[in-house]
Amino acid sequence: MTYGGIEAGGTKWVCAIGEGPADLHDTVTFPTTTPRETIARAADFFARNGTVAAVGVGSFGPIDVRRSSPTWGRITTTPKAGWAGTDVVAALGLALDVPVAFDTDVNAAALGEQRWGAAVGLVTFCYVTIGTGIGGGGMANGRLMHGLLHPELGHMRIPHDRQRDPFDGVCPYHGDCFEGLASGEAVRQRWGAPGETLTDDAAVWQLEAEYVALGLVNVICTLSPQRIVLGGGVMQQSALLPLVRGEVRRLLAGYIDAPELGDGIDEFIVAPGLGDRAGVLGAIELARRANDA
Ligand code: ZN
Repeated sequence: MTYGGIEAGGTKWVCAIGEGPADLHDTVTFPTTTPRETIARAADFFARNGTVAAVGVGSFGPIDVRRSSPTWGRITTTPKAGWAGTDVVAALGLALDVPVAFDTDVNAAALGEQRWGAAVGLVTFCYVTIGTGIGGGGMANGRLMHGLLHPELGHMRIPHDRQRDPFDGVCPYHGDCFEGLASGEAVRQRWGAPGETLTDDAAVWQLEAEYVALGLVNVICTLSPQRIVLGGGVMQQSALLPLVRGEVRRLLAGYIDAPELGDGIDEFIVAPGLGDRAGVLGAIELARRANDA
């Protein structure tokens, strides 16, 4: 059985056909334009490359993941122009006539990591991405985290010392939430240059590590994950991950009595095992599950 996966991002879509990391027949990446054009391009890709049993979509959001909701399968309140209210599932289902599974991009990535990557064997863990935006998902007791809607880890509030960092933040809803202070876009606007060009500026990455660690400490204290998989473009800065681990230990101050948060922290906060393919591979796993259901 062959499945289709879509990592539906706000700037690009990645589509793949296959069964897993060792078996990806075809992949394509194209920019996110209008909903009609973008969805048609994905549908064309699957139609041209043979038959898939089901398609999984890991989408940017916020999205409606409540199966009982009349608007299940839609992107909801996104500020991305033209995309609010887009019914991704219905459009793909109509074009391809196969089951379509739908979840957040970060829940899809979490699922991929649990199936093949850095979270194999775990039942409660989080996947957090620090990229252009910040998002997080994961599993609780072996099930992808859903509830009222889905986790929005990027929009939690974290302490912001305006004396030290007077930057107002970039979130259009909250200003200085986690994403507002620590996303790639926040780095770019605060320092006036993209992170990739600031590699040698230690002050940039010290502040970034402190904000990321504040977010992760809240995740650790509220969800008690067995591991945090930390991905996204900002984490490509090689100095950042060790700094984040150190800050998490410092902030927790020894209170939580687990070796994973002490000398074992290098195996507790880890890079994705699937690299930047976690999302699209997780979408393939979503499709498999939809087909098996
Ligand atoms: Zn926000």
